[in-house]
Amino acid sequence: MTLRLHDTATRTVRDFLPLTPGKAGLYLCGATVQAPPHIGHIRSGVSFDILVRWLKVSGLEVTFCRNVTDIDDKILRTASAEGSPWWAVAERNQRAFTRAYDVLGCLPPDVEPRATGHVPEMITLIRRLIDSGHAYAAGGDVHFEVSSYDRYGALSGQRPEHMRAADDIEGGSAKRDPRDFALWKGHKPGEPYWDTPWGPGRPGWHLECSAMATKYLGPTFDIHGGGLDLVFPHHENEVAQSRAAGDGFARYWLHNGLVNLGGEKMSKSLGNSLLVDAMVTEVRPVELRYYLGQAHYRSGIEYSPEALAEAAAAYRRIEGFVVRASEAAGTGTGRAAGTGGTGGSGGTGLPLASSLPAAFVAALDDDLAVPQALAVVHEVVTEGNTALAAGDQAGADKQAESVRAMLGVLGLDPLAAPWATAGDSGLSDVVEALVRVALDQRQAARARKDYPAADAIRDQLHAAGIVVEDTPAGPRWELAR
Ligand SMILES: [Zn+2]
Repeated sequence: MTLRLHDTATRTVRDFLPLTPGKAGLYLCGATVQAPPHIGHIRSGVSFDILVRWLKVSGLEVTFCRNVTDIDDKILRTASAEGSPWWAVAERNQRAFTRAYDVLGCLPPDVEPRATGHVPEMITLIRRLIDSGHAYAAGGDVHFEVSSYDRYGALSGQRPEHMRAADDIEGGSAKRDPRDFALWKGHKPGEPYWDTPWGPGRPGWHLECSAMATKYLGPTFDIHGGGLDLVFPHHENEVAQSRAAGDGFARYWLHNGLVNLGGEKMSKSLGNSLLVDAMVTEVRPVELRYYLGQAHYRSGIEYSPEALAEAAAAYRRIEGFVVRASEAAGTGTGRAAGTGGTGGSGGTGLPLASSLPAAFVAALDDDLAVPQALAVVHEVVTEGNTALAAGDQAGADKQAESVRAMLGVLGLDPLAAPWATAGDSGLSDVVEALVRVALDQRQAARARKDYPAADAIRDQLHAAGIVVEDTPAGPRWELAR
C-alpha cells in the first residue's frame, strides 16, 4: 500500500495505513435533506466515489457509510414555509439526492443511516459525555462543554479564544460558555421531538454524525470525509465530543473543495443553485461527472458554462476513441454496448490494479491526483488514435483496454454500467439491428444514385434522434446529443 492522503488534522499528505490491514472504513457527511442537490453537493459525492473506487482497486475491503441528516432547523423551516410535514420534505429531498448520486454513477454506500433512526445511540453518547464531565443539561437542552476538552480547535487549527460563539441555539442563555454547542435541543412547540432522560427534544447535527459513524464503523475508524465548509464547526465538534467520550474516532480527515459561482460558495441562500436534475438535461450525466471529478478533490471549482463545455469536449474525445476502437475491433456496435469492465475484480466492475499504467497508479496514490491521472488517459488516447489511423488494430486494442481500465477507476468507462446501453432487456441490440436495416436501404439507394431517397432515410433517422456519419469504413451512427 503506497497510497498517501492529505489529512486535514495534520495538514500533511501522509501514508494511508488502515486500522485493520486489508480493510478501510469511510464515513462521509451526506446530505441535509432540506432541498434537492446542486452540483456543489454532488461534487462531494463524486470526489469520495473516486476515493472508494481507488481503495477497492488497491485491494481494500471498504465499508462506506454516508449519512442522511433528516431533521434540522432548515428542514423544519422549509416544511413550515410550504405547509408540509417535516418528514415529507426530508423524504422528497432524500430521493432527489439518491437520484443525483445514481445518475452521476456514484457507487451506493454500504449503509446510509438517517439521523432520526439513531436517537438511542445519541442518548448513549450524551450519557457518556455527561458522566465524564464533558456535557451538561440546561434549560431543556444538553450542551457540550468546550472548555472541558483541551484539544478543541486542533482539527481546524483555531485557537479557542478566537472562535465565534456556536450559533446553533436561540438565546443560548443557559450555556456556560458561548462556544458550547448543543448535543440535544429541547422541545419547542410545533417541532417534532423524541423523549430522553433530559426531557423531550431533537438531536443536534454534530451529535448525529458521531453516533452514526461509530455505530457502523466502530469507535475508531479510518477516514472521515466531507466538504471543506464542514471542518468548522461541524467536524471540530464531532471529534471533540467523540474523543471526549473516549472514542478514537477518525484517523484521517479528508475534505473536498467547494464549487463556487462568481467567487461565492454555491448555496441555496445565494439563490444561485445549479440543480443536478436541471444540469443533466443540458449535458450528459457522464460529462457532468467528468467535469466535477477532473479537478483535484481539494481544489475549488469556479463554475462556468464554458468550463463545463470544455470538460464535456475532453470527455467526448476519450469516449470517441474507445467507441471507435471497439467498433474497429468488431467488439462493439455503432452505439456503445459493452457490458463493462476489463477483466475486473470480484463483480465490482472495477479494473485490476495490474491492468493500469504505472503513471496512473502513481498519480492516484499521490493524494488522488486526478488531473495527473487524466493526463495519462489523454496520452494513451492520443497513442490509440495514432494506432487506429495507421490500421494497427492490435495497438489500438491495447490502448483502448488501458483507457477503459483507467476510466473504470474514475467511474467514466463509456462501455460500462451505468453509461453503456447494455442491460436494457436487449433493446439496444434491437435498435442496432433496426438502424442497420435503414442504413442498408440508404446504401442501396445511393448505389443506384437515388440520392433523394438516401437523404430521406437519413432525415428520418435524424428525426428519430439518430445521427449518421459517413466514414471510410462505412456509415456509423450514434444517438443525437
Ligand atoms: Zn456530519
